[in-house]
Amino acid sequence: MKPVYTILIAGLMFGACNKEMKVKNHTYGNYEDVRISHIALDLNVDFEKKSLSGTAVLNIENLTGASEIVLDHKNMDIEGAEVDGKEATFTIGKYDSTLGAPLIIPITKESKKITVKYRTHADAEALQWLSPEQTHDKKQPFLFSQSQAILARTWIPLMDAPAIRFTYEATIKVPNHLLALMSAANPTEKNKEGIYHFKQEKPIPSYLMAIAVGDVEFKNLGRNTGVYAEPGMIEKSAWEFESMQSMVDSAEALYGPYAWGRYDVLVLPPSFPFGGMENPVLTFATPTIIAGDRSLVSLVAHELAHSWSGNLVTNETWNDFWLNEGFTVYFEQRIMEKIYGHDYAEMLTALSRGELQRTIDSMMIDPEQKPDTKLFLNLDGRNPDDGVTDIAYEKGRFFLRSIENVVGRKNWDAFIIQYFSENSFKTMTTERFIDYLQKNLLNKNTEWAAKINYKDWIYGEGLPENCEKIESTELKKVSAAVTNYSKTRDVAAIDTAGYTTHHWLFLLRNLPKMSAQEMKNLDAKFGLSKGGNSEILCDWFQLCVRNGYNDANNEMRTFLNSVGRRKFLTPIYRELIATTEGKKLAIDIFNQAQSGYHAVAVKTLKDMLGI
Ligand SMILES: [Zn+2]
Repeated sequence: MKPVYTILIAGLMFGACNKEMKVKNHTYGNYEDVRISHIALDLNVDFEKKSLSGTAVLNIENLTGASEIVLDHKNMDIEGAEVDGKEATFTIGKYDSTLGAPLIIPITKESKKITVKYRTHADAEALQWLSPEQTHDKKQPFLFSQSQAILARTWIPLMDAPAIRFTYEATIKVPNHLLALMSAANPTEKNKEGIYHFKQEKPIPSYLMAIAVGDVEFKNLGRNTGVYAEPGMIEKSAWEFESMQSMVDSAEALYGPYAWGRYDVLVLPPSFPFGGMENPVLTFATPTIIAGDRSLVSLVAHELAHSWSGNLVTNETWNDFWLNEGFTVYFEQRIMEKIYGHDYAEMLTALSRGELQRTIDSMMIDPEQKPDTKLFLNLDGRNPDDGVTDIAYEKGRFFLRSIENVVGRKNWDAFIIQYFSENSFKTMTTERFIDYLQKNLLNKNTEWAAKINYKDWIYGEGLPENCEKIESTELKKVSAAVTNYSKTRDVAAIDTAGYTTHHWLFLLRNLPKMSAQEMKNLDAKFGLSKGGNSEILCDWFQLCVRNGYNDANNEMRTFLNSVGRRKFLTPIYRELIATTEGKKLAIDIFNQAQSGYHAVAVKTLKDMLGI
């Protein structure tokens, strides 16, 4: 059980009313009383006003005879409401800076259709409106959405919680030289009218509602896979994602049929704050994975794996977020292993294990963060974005790996196939998962449960003792190079022949404290500051700041101005603010770069910089 807190409504439409509004699982929606089964959108996309406007029609079923339906909405103007085609009065409750405000519309037991006419504000957090200069090709504007976790309510009035699933359709009108795409069956070509129709016939939670509009082209990659990107990026993207079809085939061979028809990836402009977003049918991806050497495609494996863990079996609340992400990282690793082999997959896992340890160590010494090292979170009254840490992803994955290690891969795989198939298009809580695990797997052998000790993993802080340490033969070679360098300080002796991105990351993360001159020698030999691989640049610039190597400041500034992916921004800014001088530089760069960042990234950085 989770606490329910209450908010008073300040009635706007027909005077004040003192009704208490419930918030449960980050929604005002009274979803236990009224079920939304389908949403039909009819929206016009206006780049000048940075606004979506039109209607959302919600098919509902009044399960308990409730006298009203309560929807979430934020940063939009509500222009009218209808119930079954008849105009209805509506009330807007008190605004909360995280949750937005409840939109209350009276209904009867027989009510079937709610129509809301609305217009989004330019600062709707889910929507990022890019000027042509902010795109790769710099010719046309671009719009994309990011609804997870609770931002769908900033572009669609609905009940915004992962426990609620509905099908949808949409008619989207865009300027006629642009293409519209959604998390649904998509067009592959522009049409003259600029009007596009979409249908998503599988029920999805609100955080998977997605839209993108831009000058993009499509290229087919296989039986049911393809890529969308700006014309200047399409060939590079298609080359980078060459393995996409075999990823889909491998994933199906592992854990059962792919449920969504096509699997396509849309390569977004650089301001996208995440690596990828698993919008059904159409993954949204950062262009920073187009490294030119196919070394960062594990991100596609990750987003693809979400087609099962997350999109098919969904965390019921954001406290259960690890069920989405832990499973997905585990599944991603299995796809990578199947395609690229055990050694490569173990190298990636070993690298993540190191990162997880670092995250845990730093969270455990901060009393505020310490409770968030539990897999099962308590995000009530907080922004669910607080739960997006290595814990859900990596501690979650290592928990599942520890189960595999105890029960054996054969039993574990059979369990996962059954788990996905029996829980398809349903939600899952941590408690129900443990119950399901117990009944369908652990009960087969009385020793297993004690060996796994799930309570330690899920409700305990830090890392349990049985968390695996990963040995990677590839990374051992890098360790040897680091040891040698620590003794000799001889840059010339570092032999990086055959290094992948991941060897580099491990090297940079393990080098000893260096002087600015030593950093300069390293940079001179390997040209690191001028590299084109964002993963490597991110680690390199952290090292530069840490070791006081200011010669790289200009390149670092350029990097922070050209990417919006939060995973790269946060650690560099964090490193900068460790000194007074660095903090000054951080604020200066942020002020220059923030117009190119997404609201999600801006919020994180402002909190960190204290501005
Ligand atoms: Zn994920």
